[in-house]
Amino acid sequence: MTSSPIWHPFTQHALEPAMRHIRKAEGAWLEADDGQRIFDGISSWWVITHGHRHPKIVAAIERQASKLDQVIFAGFTHEPAEALAAGLLKIVPEGLAHVFFSDSGSTSVEVALKMALGYWKNIGASRTRVLALEHAYHGDTIGTMSAGARGVFNAAYEPLLFDVGRVPYPKPHHAQPTFDALEIACRKGDVAAFICEPLILGAGGMLIYDAETLREMHRICKAHDVLFIADEVMTCFGRTGTVFACEQAGISPDILCLSKGLTGGSLPLAVTLCIPEIYQAHFSTDRSRTFFHSSSYTANPVACAAAEANLKVWRNEPVLERIIALSQHQAICLNDLEPDPRFANVRRIGTIAAFELAQTQQGYLADVALNLRARLLEKGVLLRPLGSTIYIMPPYCTTKAELTSVYSALSEAVDEVLA
Ligand SMILES: *Cc1c(COP(=O)(O)O)cnc(C)c1O
Repeated sequence: MTSSPIWHPFTQHALEPAMRHIRKAEGAWLEADDGQRIFDGISSWWVITHGHRHPKIVAAIERQASKLDQVIFAGFTHEPAEALAAGLLKIVPEGLAHVFFSDSGSTSVEVALKMALGYWKNIGASRTRVLALEHAYHGDTIGTMSAGARGVFNAAYEPLLFDVGRVPYPKPHHAQPTFDALEIACRKGDVAAFICEPLILGAGGMLIYDAETLREMHRICKAHDVLFIADEVMTCFGRTGTVFACEQAGISPDILCLSKGLTGGSLPLAVTLCIPEIYQAHFSTDRSRTFFHSSSYTANPVACAAAEANLKVWRNEPVLERIIALSQHQAICLNDLEPDPRFANVRRIGTIAAFELAQTQQGYLADVALNLRARLLEKGVLLRPLGSTIYIMPPYCTTKAELTSVYSALSEAVDEVLA
């Protein structure tokens, strides 16, 4: 065991003293320093879409790095950002017209909340309340933690978190309480925006709801002039079976947050897109109406070139076909799992499969998660259960044989952990 000064994210170092050293990655595989090959069953925290080091994306990064590494993005622009913005507007839901750059999912959501509040202030309406779903996750900054579910993750910061209106999670076939709560909250007239993760609440436990529910939540917001923010930081670029999850409901959000898969997972980048009305509310010769937000690395050219290359991969390669194939492989594996008494709540949307371990302690801090993770790693599989919720979210290049062996490794590991 080597000692390192590094403090890792979401890591209890007292329970996890050693970090694996990874030296290489290719396709769906990581390679550790000791030569062990590890299957990346969670797409390196949900960011890798096509696979690690897609050659076209790597080449674009190399080309761009040799030309322009970074430039201030106020008063200046550059081709990779312009090409990416134009490319995005061609594929996002209709109505979105402006693209604001930042560098992480959390920041894209902060930007979305600030855009919404700025809109209402600039048009002279006193709407400042934010509504969000129960079990939501929108990031780890103070603002995004405020919008997200409260729990062990953010208990220490609770005094600083702002109050949001909480709408119950739409349980499958029991979404009416969600609609009622949303309707009642919207009617009060003080709501600036409703934010949600379309079709699947990720970090909240891979909780899936249907497109009709998403459409109805959107309809209620629109009926009350409440801005609808779609946090597609995780779902964007194919995860749920379509490029964007919103497509399945046929809705156009007023504000759309994209990150993780935006660069194919190669470099950090995020965008927040909005409708013309929001941009127009900030467009003024009055400097006080400026949208006051910036990150040092806003629209970093190398990251933009990676994202632009990702769009090209989508245009030139059969990405959706790969996603459909992977989704079908997931469905087949889950079919075998369904009657297995060790598992419960077997569910799937697009490429994401999730289920709970039956008859174990529930919740994020469940001990079983850490044990299971360690056992799986020994078998060369990276999974990271959210407490007793196990999910498999592999890159799109994953073959049927690879996926089948992940499920076999999981089955063995569960036996070992429950023994
Ligand atoms: C991961 C995630 C975020 C936060 O993104 P970071 O890049 O980790 O800041 C926000 N919203 C959703 C839905 C996410 O899954």
